Amino acid sequence: MKVYNTLSGQKEEFLPQGDEVKMYVCGVTPYADCHLGHAMSYIVFDVITRYLRFRGYKVKYVQNITDIDDKIIDRANKLGIPASELAGKFTDSYFDDMDALNIGRADIYPRATEEIPKIIEVIQGLIDKGYAYPAQGSVYFRVNSVSDYGKLSHRSLESMMSACSVEMGREKEDPMDFALWKAVKPGEPSWASPWGNGRPGWHIECSAMSLKYLGNTLDIHGGGQDLIFPHHENEIVQSESFTGAKPFAKYWLHNGLVQLGEDKMSKSTGKLITIKEALEKYSPDAIRFFVLSSHYRSPLTYSEEALKAAEGGVERLQLSVSRYDPSGGGGQALNAESYEERFKKAMNDDFNTPQALGVLFDLARKINEAGDAGINYSNAQNTLLSLSRKVLGLKLPRRIHVEVSVKIGVKTTVDVTVIPGKLIPDKLIPDNIKSRVIRLAEERVNCREAKNWQRADEIRSKLAELGVTLEDTKTRTDVTYKRVPSEESLENLMKELRIDS
Ligand SMILES: [Zn+2]
Repeated sequence: MKVYNTLSGQKEEFLPQGDEVKMYVCGVTPYADCHLGHAMSYIVFDVITRYLRFRGYKVKYVQNITDIDDKIIDRANKLGIPASELAGKFTDSYFDDMDALNIGRADIYPRATEEIPKIIEVIQGLIDKGYAYPAQGSVYFRVNSVSDYGKLSHRSLESMMSACSVEMGREKEDPMDFALWKAVKPGEPSWASPWGNGRPGWHIECSAMSLKYLGNTLDIHGGGQDLIFPHHENEIVQSESFTGAKPFAKYWLHNGLVQLGEDKMSKSTGKLITIKEALEKYSPDAIRFFVLSSHYRSPLTYSEEALKAAEGGVERLQLSVSRYDPSGGGGQALNAESYEERFKKAMNDDFNTPQALGVLFDLARKINEAGDAGINYSNAQNTLLSLSRKVLGLKLPRRIHVEVSVKIGVKTTVDVTVIPGKLIPDKLIPDNIKSRVIRLAEERVNCREAKNWQRADEIRSKLAELGVTLEDTKTRTDVTYKRVPSEESLENLMKELRIDS
C-alpha cells in the first residue's frame, strides 16, 4: 500500500511502526456550523480509517477539539455568552453533522480546555531545553533554535516570513517566533500557569494532545492542505524539540480544499455552504460520493450540478444493490472477486477513490447484465454493498417498494404488502420510520377522500422533501424511499400538520 507523504513529497510504501496505526487529525474550532470543507476533510480521513481497518490494521484515531480560540472568544463576546457555552453548542452541532454524514467517530476527542496541564508540561519542557522563552506573561517558540523549520511545507524562511504576515510583538525576540502561551487579556477566559494567567496557543495544543494520547511518534498525521503552514510546521518543531524523537509523524497526509467558484470555501472568505444546508438538498450518500469522486489531494469544486451528478451516481449503485434476484440464489453465479481485487488495487494506490468508484460502477453494470441473462448475482450484490458500506461509508439504503392499500370506510385501515419485483424491500428502513410514513400516507388518503386537495398535496410535497415519494395508481399508493428520513424530521412534519402518531 502506498501513500503520498507531504514530508517527502512522494508516494511511499505504508509501513506503520507497530500493529496499531496511530493517527491524529486536526479537529474543529467550534464557533460556527461546519461547512463542506470540513465535510471533505473528515470524510477523507474516515475513508482512510475504514480502509485501514478493512485491510486488517488496528487504528487508534485521535481528533482534537480546539474549544478555546480567538474566534470563539470574539463570537461569544458579541453574543454575550461564555466562550465555553458557544464552543459546547457548536461541538454538538459538529457531532450531529458527522453522524448525519455517516462519519465514524474517532477513538478519542481531547478538548484543549481539558488538557491544560499537559500543554503546560510541554511548554515548560521547551523552555527548559532553550527552545522557548517567556516574555511578559506569554511564551514564544524560538524558531531560530531549530535548523529544519520549513521541512514540511518545503519553504525557505524568507517565503514563510512573507506568507504569514508576521506582526512583530514587542516582546518577541524574532518576528518568526510564535506563541505557545498567550497572556490573559481583559474579557478572555484564562487558566493559571507558571507564567501567569493565560491560555494556550493553537499549535501547542495539537502537540500536547497527540503526545499524550498517541506517544512520541505518530504513523499518520492528517489535515487540510491549508494547515501545512504554519500549523503543522509548528507542530513538528514543538513536538520534535520536546521529545527529541524524529520524525514526529511518519506520514503527513493532506486533503485538497473545497472550492466555491474561484475561492476556497471558508468561514473567512464568507463563501461557504454549511453541511446542514447541503443535507437539506442532498442525501448524505450524495455528499460522500461527491467528495470521493475526486482524489483526496485534489481541489474539489462545489456546484449544484456536481452534487446532482453525485446523487445520480448513488442512485445507480442503489438500484443495482436493490435489484431483486429472481434466480433465488441457484444456478450459475456472477463472481465478483476480480472486482474486489481491482477495488483494493485502486485504494492501495494512495486511496484512489475515484478509481475505486469506477470499479463499483463496472460491477453494478455486470449485475444488471446478469439479471437480464438469468445469472445469479446475489453474491456480487453483497460484494458491492460491502465495499460501498464498509470502505466508502455509503449507506446505499436498498430501495423499498411497498404497496399501501387503503380501505376507505368509517375507520381507515392500512395494509402494507410487499410487491415482489425488481426492487426488494429494505430491512434497513426501521419500523419506527415506516409506521410514521404510513401514518402520513394514510392521512393523505383521508384528505383526498374529503376533497381537501391542498392538504393532500402538502403532505406529498413535504414527504418528498424528506426523500419519500408517494405515487398514486387507481387502487393504491406506492411509497418509495430515496433516502431514509430521520424519526425526528417525520415527527416534526406530523406536528406541523397536526397529525397524531
Ligand atoms: Zn493541529
